Amino acid sequence: MMPAYDPNNIFAKILRGELPCHKVYEDDRAIAFLDIMPRAPGHTLVVPKCAARNLFDVDPDELAHAAKVAQKIAKASKAAFGADGVTIQQFNESAGGQVVFHLHIHVIPRKEGVAMKPPASEKEKPETLAANAQLLAAALKGA
Ligand code: 5GP
Repeated sequence: MMPAYDPNNIFAKILRGELPCHKVYEDDRAIAFLDIMPRAPGHTLVVPKCAARNLFDVDPDELAHAAKVAQKIAKASKAAFGADGVTIQQFNESAGGQVVFHLHIHVIPRKEGVAMKPPASEKEKPETLAANAQLLAAALKGA
């Protein structure tokens, strides 16, 4: 059986404002912020505000809303980072590659011919994250 949702996971703490993040988007049902170990510049995580561990327990409407936000971010990352394409990833349970147990959708801007870095390879510099968050937030406002 799947473990219960843990309200002390790191993204729940970010949602409650107990930990900082480089936020690029927020509405009443979801937030999006940059991944601290990006697999490509502008790598963003879309996180629904509801308490959901992953795809198996999330309310379908909240999942659909998160997908809509991921689409907005994907479109804006073309303008913000000159992305030629975007990779969407979403992992469920350890066996599925999930590490943080609050549902999230990865939006990874891609350039032609440039491979993604391996997962969790290195922590990005805060100033780079801040600059990229600003670029993406500005592109989202213009969208
Ligand atoms: P997943 O659960 O999708 O396999 O991986 C979790 C993702 O969250 C990883 O890409 C990792 O780099 C990212 N991550 C882990 N801890 C933090 C954090 O404290 N802040 C942010 N912004 N991202 C995190």
